[in-house]
Amino acid sequence: MRYYSIAIDGPSGAGKSTMAKAISAELGCVYLDTGAIYRTVAYHMILMGISPKDRDGVNRLIDDVNIKIEFPGDGRQHMILNGYDVTDEIRTSQISQGASQVSAHPVVRDVLLDLQRDMAKSNNVIMDGRDIGTVVLPDADVKIFLTASARERAKRRLKELEEKGEKITFQQVLADIEERDERDSTRAIAPLRCAPDAIRVDTSKLNLQQSIDHLLSIIREKLGDLV
Ligand code: C5P
Repeated sequence: MRYYSIAIDGPSGAGKSTMAKAISAELGCVYLDTGAIYRTVAYHMILMGISPKDRDGVNRLIDDVNIKIEFPGDGRQHMILNGYDVTDEIRTSQISQGASQVSAHPVVRDVLLDLQRDMAKSNNVIMDGRDIGTVVLPDADVKIFLTASARERAKRRLKELEEKGEKITFQQVLADIEERDERDSTRAIAPLRCAPDAIRVDTSKLNLQQSIDHLLSIIREKLGDLV
Protein backbone atom coordinates (compact mmCIF):
# COMPACT_ATOMS: atom_id res chain seq x y z
CA MET A 1 0.00 0.00 0.00
CA ARG A 2 1.25 3.44 -0.88
CA TYR A 3 0.86 6.06 1.83
CA TYR A 4 0.66 9.75 1.07
CA SER A 5 2.33 12.51 3.02
CA ILE A 6 1.57 16.20 3.31
CA ALA A 7 4.17 18.63 4.68
CA ILE A 8 3.16 21.96 6.17
CA ASP A 9 6.00 24.26 7.17
CA GLY A 10 6.09 27.86 8.23
CA PRO A 11 6.91 30.27 11.04
CA SER A 12 5.42 30.22 14.54
CA GLY A 13 1.77 31.15 14.73
CA ALA A 14 1.03 30.87 11.00
CA GLY A 15 -1.84 28.51 11.85
CA LYS A 16 -0.11 25.31 10.81
CA SER A 17 -1.50 23.14 13.59
CA THR A 18 -5.05 24.47 13.29
CA MET A 19 -4.99 23.86 9.53
CA ALA A 20 -3.33 20.46 9.80
CA LYS A 21 -5.81 19.30 12.44
CA ALA A 22 -8.80 20.31 10.31
CA ILE A 23 -7.31 18.73 7.19
CA SER A 24 -6.49 15.45 8.96
CA ALA A 25 -10.10 15.26 10.20
CA GLU A 26 -11.40 15.91 6.70
CA LEU A 27 -9.08 13.41 4.95
CA GLY A 28 -8.90 10.85 7.76
CA CYS A 29 -5.11 10.83 7.96
CA VAL A 30 -2.75 11.03 10.96
CA TYR A 31 -1.68 14.51 12.04
CA LEU A 32 1.79 14.79 13.54
CA ASP A 33 2.70 18.05 15.26
CA THR A 34 6.50 17.87 15.17
CA GLY A 35 6.97 21.05 17.23
CA ALA A 36 5.57 19.11 20.19
CA ILE A 37 8.55 16.75 19.97
CA TYR A 38 11.06 19.62 20.23
CA ARG A 39 9.01 21.08 23.05
CA THR A 40 9.22 17.76 24.91
CA VAL A 41 13.01 17.71 24.59
CA ALA A 42 13.19 21.31 25.87
CA TYR A 43 10.93 20.40 28.78
CA HIS A 44 13.24 17.56 29.78
CA MET A 45 16.33 19.79 29.70
CA ILE A 46 14.67 22.50 31.82
CA LEU A 47 13.39 19.86 34.26
CA MET A 48 16.95 18.58 34.64
CA GLY A 49 18.30 22.10 35.22
CA ILE A 50 20.01 22.34 31.84
CA SER A 51 19.52 25.42 29.69
CA PRO A 52 18.18 24.46 26.23
CA LYS A 53 20.89 26.78 24.87
CA ASP A 54 23.67 24.77 26.52
CA ARG A 55 24.94 22.56 23.71
CA ASP A 56 27.25 20.43 25.88
CA GLY A 57 24.55 19.91 28.48
CA VAL A 58 21.99 18.96 25.83
CA ASN A 59 24.48 16.57 24.19
CA ARG A 60 25.06 14.91 27.57
CA LEU A 61 21.38 14.47 28.38
CA ILE A 62 19.82 13.70 25.02
CA ASP A 63 20.21 9.92 25.40
CA ASP A 64 18.02 10.04 28.54
CA VAL A 65 15.11 11.41 26.56
CA ASN A 66 12.62 8.70 25.68
CA ILE A 67 9.66 10.08 23.77
CA LYS A 68 6.52 8.23 22.82
CA ILE A 69 3.71 9.79 20.80
CA GLU A 70 0.22 8.50 21.49
CA PHE A 71 -3.16 9.20 19.93
CA PRO A 72 -5.65 7.88 22.52
CA GLY A 73 -8.62 9.16 20.51
CA ASP A 74 -9.40 12.38 22.41
CA GLY A 75 -8.38 14.44 19.38
CA ARG A 76 -5.01 15.32 20.91
CA GLN A 77 -1.49 14.17 20.31
CA HIS A 78 -0.15 13.03 23.67
CA MET A 79 3.54 13.42 24.36
CA ILE A 80 4.94 10.85 26.76
CA LEU A 81 8.34 11.75 28.19
CA ASN A 82 10.07 8.89 30.04
CA GLY A 83 6.66 7.47 30.93
CA TYR A 84 5.00 10.76 31.94
CA ASP A 85 2.32 12.54 29.93
CA VAL A 86 3.63 16.10 29.40
CA THR A 87 1.08 17.15 26.75
CA ASP A 88 -0.13 20.18 28.73
CA GLU A 89 3.17 21.14 30.36
CA ILE A 90 4.91 21.78 27.02
CA ARG A 91 2.52 24.56 25.94
CA THR A 92 3.94 27.52 27.88
CA SER A 93 5.87 30.42 26.35
CA GLN A 94 8.97 29.38 28.32
CA ILE A 95 8.88 26.02 26.53
CA SER A 96 8.24 27.73 23.16
CA GLN A 97 11.53 29.59 23.52
CA GLY A 98 13.26 26.52 24.93
CA ALA A 99 12.10 24.40 21.97
CA SER A 100 13.42 26.95 19.51
CA GLN A 101 16.78 26.98 21.34
CA VAL A 102 17.08 23.21 21.73
CA SER A 103 16.09 22.61 18.10
CA ALA A 104 19.20 24.43 16.86
CA HIS A 105 21.49 21.66 18.18
CA PRO A 106 22.38 19.11 15.47
CA VAL A 107 22.25 16.18 17.92
CA VAL A 108 18.62 16.95 18.75
CA ARG A 109 17.53 17.19 15.11
CA ASP A 110 19.38 13.98 14.35
CA VAL A 111 17.77 11.99 17.14
CA LEU A 112 14.27 13.18 16.23
CA LEU A 113 14.52 12.51 12.50
CA ASP A 114 13.69 8.79 12.58
CA LEU A 115 10.83 9.30 15.00
CA GLN A 116 9.20 11.63 12.49
CA ARG A 117 10.02 9.61 9.37
CA ASP A 118 8.76 6.35 10.90
CA MET A 119 5.32 7.89 11.24
CA ALA A 120 5.13 8.50 7.49
CA LYS A 121 6.27 4.96 6.63
CA SER A 122 3.14 3.31 7.94
CA ASN A 123 0.42 5.99 7.78
CA ASN A 124 -1.11 8.60 5.55
CA VAL A 125 0.15 11.70 7.31
CA ILE A 126 0.01 15.43 7.49
CA MET A 127 3.01 16.79 9.40
CA ASP A 128 3.67 20.33 10.40
CA GLY A 129 6.95 21.91 11.43
CA ARG A 130 9.83 23.95 10.05
CA ASP A 131 11.79 21.46 7.96
CA ILE A 132 9.27 18.82 6.94
CA GLY A 133 9.32 19.57 3.21
CA THR A 134 13.05 20.30 3.14
CA VAL A 135 14.57 17.64 5.44
CA VAL A 136 12.16 15.21 7.11
CA LEU A 137 10.00 14.29 4.09
CA PRO A 138 11.75 15.70 1.02
CA ASP A 139 9.57 13.42 -1.16
CA ALA A 140 6.25 14.49 0.40
CA ASP A 141 3.36 14.40 -2.08
CA VAL A 142 2.23 17.90 -1.12
CA LYS A 143 4.33 20.67 0.41
CA ILE A 144 2.81 23.83 1.73
CA PHE A 145 4.63 26.81 3.22
CA LEU A 146 2.17 28.68 5.39
CA THR A 147 2.85 32.27 6.39
CA ALA A 148 1.14 35.34 7.77
CA SER A 149 2.51 38.70 8.91
CA ALA A 150 4.27 38.70 12.31
CA ARG A 151 1.59 41.00 13.78
CA GLU A 152 -1.24 38.79 12.60
CA ARG A 153 0.52 35.70 14.00
CA ALA A 154 1.14 37.47 17.31
CA LYS A 155 -2.55 38.39 17.52
CA ARG A 156 -3.59 34.77 17.04
CA ARG A 157 -0.97 33.41 19.47
CA LEU A 158 -1.99 35.97 22.13
CA LYS A 159 -5.59 34.79 21.91
CA GLU A 160 -4.48 31.18 22.32
CA LEU A 161 -2.30 31.97 25.35
CA GLU A 162 -4.99 34.11 26.97
CA GLU A 163 -7.47 31.28 26.58
CA LYS A 164 -5.04 29.11 28.54
CA GLY A 165 -4.87 31.73 31.26
CA GLU A 166 -1.31 32.89 30.56
CA LYS A 167 -0.74 36.56 31.44
CA ILE A 168 1.19 38.09 28.59
CA THR A 169 1.00 41.28 26.49
CA PHE A 170 0.74 41.65 22.71
CA GLN A 171 4.21 43.26 22.62
CA GLN A 172 5.72 40.31 24.48
CA VAL A 173 4.11 37.79 22.13
CA LEU A 174 5.22 39.77 19.07
CA ALA A 175 8.79 40.02 20.39
CA ASP A 176 8.76 36.29 21.16
CA ILE A 177 7.56 35.45 17.63
CA GLU A 178 10.11 37.73 15.98
CA GLU A 179 12.90 36.25 18.09
CA ARG A 180 11.86 32.70 17.19
CA ASP A 181 11.50 33.60 13.48
CA GLU A 182 15.01 34.99 13.50
CA ARG A 183 16.52 31.99 15.31
CA ASP A 184 14.57 29.39 13.31
CA SER A 185 15.50 30.90 9.95
CA THR A 186 19.15 31.65 10.62
CA ARG A 187 20.27 28.46 12.39
CA ALA A 188 22.94 26.48 10.55
CA ILE A 189 21.06 23.21 10.46
CA ALA A 190 17.63 22.66 8.87
CA PRO A 191 16.66 26.35 8.95
CA LEU A 192 13.07 27.39 8.37
CA ARG A 193 12.79 27.83 4.63
CA CYS A 194 10.30 27.31 1.86
CA ALA A 195 11.20 24.18 -0.15
CA PRO A 196 11.62 24.98 -3.87
CA ASP A 197 8.66 22.73 -4.72
CA ALA A 198 6.39 23.99 -1.91
CA ILE A 199 3.30 26.10 -2.49
CA ARG A 200 3.44 29.31 -0.47
CA VAL A 201 0.16 30.35 1.16
CA ASP A 202 -0.21 33.64 3.04
CA THR A 203 -3.17 33.55 5.43
CA SER A 204 -2.92 37.16 6.72
CA LYS A 205 -6.10 38.15 4.90
CA LEU A 206 -7.97 34.83 5.03
CA ASN A 207 -10.21 33.68 7.83
CA LEU A 208 -9.95 30.18 9.24
CA GLN A 209 -12.49 28.52 6.95
CA GLN A 210 -11.12 30.24 3.85
CA SER A 211 -7.61 29.08 4.73
CA ILE A 212 -8.75 25.48 5.28
CA ASP A 213 -10.74 25.42 2.03
CA HIS A 214 -7.82 26.85 0.11
CA LEU A 215 -5.38 24.26 1.47
CA LEU A 216 -7.82 21.40 0.92
CA SER A 217 -8.25 22.34 -2.72
CA ILE A 218 -4.45 22.41 -3.22
CA ILE A 219 -4.09 19.05 -1.46
CA ARG A 220 -6.94 17.33 -3.31
CA GLU A 221 -5.57 18.46 -6.64
CA LYS A 222 -2.06 17.20 -5.82
CA LEU A 223 -3.11 13.89 -4.29
CA GLY A 224 -5.67 13.03 -6.95
CA ASP A 225 -6.71 9.36 -6.58
CA LEU A 226 -4.82 8.93 -3.29
CA VAL A 227 -7.67 10.62 -1.35
O1 C5P B 1 5.61 24.56 16.15
P1 C5P B 1 6.03 24.93 17.55
O2 C5P B 1 5.88 26.37 17.88
O3 C5P B 1 5.39 24.04 18.58
O4 C5P B 1 7.59 24.58 17.59
C1 C5P B 1 8.43 24.94 18.65
C2 C5P B 1 9.84 25.14 18.14
O5 C5P B 1 10.36 23.88 17.70
C3 C5P B 1 9.98 26.06 16.93
O6 C5P B 1 10.19 27.41 17.27
C4 C5P B 1 11.17 25.50 16.17
O7 C5P B 1 12.37 26.08 16.63
C5 C5P B 1 11.22 24.05 16.58
N1 C5P B 1 10.82 23.17 15.49
C6 C5P B 1 11.77 22.81 14.57
N2 C5P B 1 11.45 21.91 13.58
C7 C5P B 1 10.21 21.42 13.48
C8 C5P B 1 9.21 21.80 14.41
C9 C5P B 1 9.55 22.70 15.40
O8 C5P B 1 12.89 23.26 14.64
N3 C5P B 1 9.95 20.53 12.52
